[in-house]
Amino acid sequence: MLRTHTCGELRLTDSGKKITLAGWVQRNREMGGLTFIDLRDRYGITQLVFNMEINPDLCREARELGREFVIRATGKVAERSNKNPKIPTGDIEILVEKLEVLNPSQTPPFTIEDHTDGGEELRMKYRYLDLRRNENKKNLLLRHKMAIEARNYLASKEFIEIETPYLIKSTPEGARDFVVPSRMNEGQFYALPQSPQTFKQLLMVAGYDRYYQIVRCFRDEDLRADRQPEFTQIDCEMSFVDQEDVLNTFEELAKHLFKSVLNIDTQAFPRISYEEAMKIYGSDKPDIRFGMTFVELNHLMKDKGFQVFDQAELVVGINVEGCGEYTRKQLDELTDFVRRPQVGATGLVYIKYNPDGTIKSSVDKFYTPEDLKPVLDLFEAKPGDLILILAGGTDKTRSALGDLRLDMGKRLNLIAPGVFKPLWVVDFPLLEWDEETQRFYAKHHPFTAPKPEDIPQLMFGDAKKVRANAYDLVINGVEIGGGSIRIHDKGLQQLMFQKLGFTDEEAASQFGFLMNAFEYGAPPHGGIAFGFDRWVTIFGGGDSIRDFIAFPKNNAGRDVMIDSPSAISDEQKKELGIKVR
Ligand code: ASP
Repeated sequence: MLRTHTCGELRLTDSGKKITLAGWVQRNREMGGLTFIDLRDRYGITQLVFNMEINPDLCREARELGREFVIRATGKVAERSNKNPKIPTGDIEILVEKLEVLNPSQTPPFTIEDHTDGGEELRMKYRYLDLRRNENKKNLLLRHKMAIEARNYLASKEFIEIETPYLIKSTPEGARDFVVPSRMNEGQFYALPQSPQTFKQLLMVAGYDRYYQIVRCFRDEDLRADRQPEFTQIDCEMSFVDQEDVLNTFEELAKHLFKSVLNIDTQAFPRISYEEAMKIYGSDKPDIRFGMTFVELNHLMKDKGFQVFDQAELVVGINVEGCGEYTRKQLDELTDFVRRPQVGATGLVYIKYNPDGTIKSSVDKFYTPEDLKPVLDLFEAKPGDLILILAGGTDKTRSALGDLRLDMGKRLNLIAPGVFKPLWVVDFPLLEWDEETQRFYAKHHPFTAPKPEDIPQLMFGDAKKVRANAYDLVINGVEIGGGSIRIHDKGLQQLMFQKLGFTDEEAASQFGFLMNAFEYGAPPHGGIAFGFDRWVTIFGGGDSIRDFIAFPKNNAGRDVMIDSPSAISDEQKKELGIKVR
């Protein structure tokens, strides 16, 4: 090895040892007759010292070293007179006797420091330099640790990691596929997997009853802070299980990660039905780090002559505790917030429960204090509280109030940092009706099993009401994972395809392989997949999954470092049977 130690490991107890370090020059400074170099590698920083009086030639050489030069230095470990308590190696320094430049460096386009002067775009272009910074290092180490711990846990439970192909044909998970032209089959295309869904189900048919894979998935969707065109899942599937078994197994996985990675002990994760989550949080991924749950008010507020409420399907509100003294301006701000197109409400009604016990509302014309008191009581409001109410179509109103609730939680700092509140959302609807295309879509995916007691409803009743054995793991308002018990019966799968508007031929051509497999002894099975990037981001306390991926793409789906996507040569196009313009 070119070194005896790393830059993060020498301590006072190593004093007197002759050692060799190798790394990058972080900083180079002169003080009187001394030259100090901070030498950095993955493990830390160690100070090197060169003394003009002892070895002038070497000292002069050291002064020439620029930032990010790769060097190797041999010398003695010595106690430092001016100790640096901020770094683990801060008690020692190396009195250098021999120096070697392994490779010089150009001046980097931004400083490799915690508070760098480089903007995001520049750092993305030189990602390999950005990755030298502590923050990125910390994030990638966290990612590594979580992957190892997930593997440890799953292996200890007899799950085996099996790779599935990347060149497949499309799996319908609701997103657009990335496609790859096939040279040997001109005019035909592979699709990159949106997930290994069908393969993991085939592995269950094959008898590998506990499978997992930390696997890349590809979805050609518009990008957001928590989306990348390629992302990683911890993908899992098990046979001979019901929903309860799956939830318990993966709650244990989550607990193991909380404990082994963050040293946090977690209680049993609460479970809430999709219906309840929508009703009291207006979201299927509720942030339960604070309360402010919804209270429905139809019975108290309709039929009092206020048109907006009378015409609404749902009148629903939240109690914002202690905000009864909000000013006109603050209330206007909230009204503006709910009217933003992304939130989509038309207006906001408030009731102030004044500290002196009187009641003031924005709808005093229609409601007397006697009308409003029962509303306050329903919220268990105290003097000084503020009730905010939205009304309209049920789904839209719930979702808008859900946004307002989250916004109020942030405004009022109700979300304590470092707190994690995981929960399971269960009993998702099986199907979702789409007005535009006038057809049903699978809420999760077409292989998800309806609740057995809801099958008659699926066959003969109102398909919208059918619930699925499908579940999501949510942490702090972020969907971390989702899965379901699968259909393992060919007939039921056929029915499902019918409901989704597939003709028999379409079903056969797209999923014939799965339907056939179901004829050869498919065991009952179910599973889940976790968004690994998101999970790491949540554990790391970050906002963007990009910060937890070594080489991410930017907002436009580009890798600005390698400059991709890019054009290909006419030669390549010809080979692929793609028309050359
Ligand atoms: N394949 C599903 C997904 O990617 C997860 C699952 O059902 O296991 O969301």
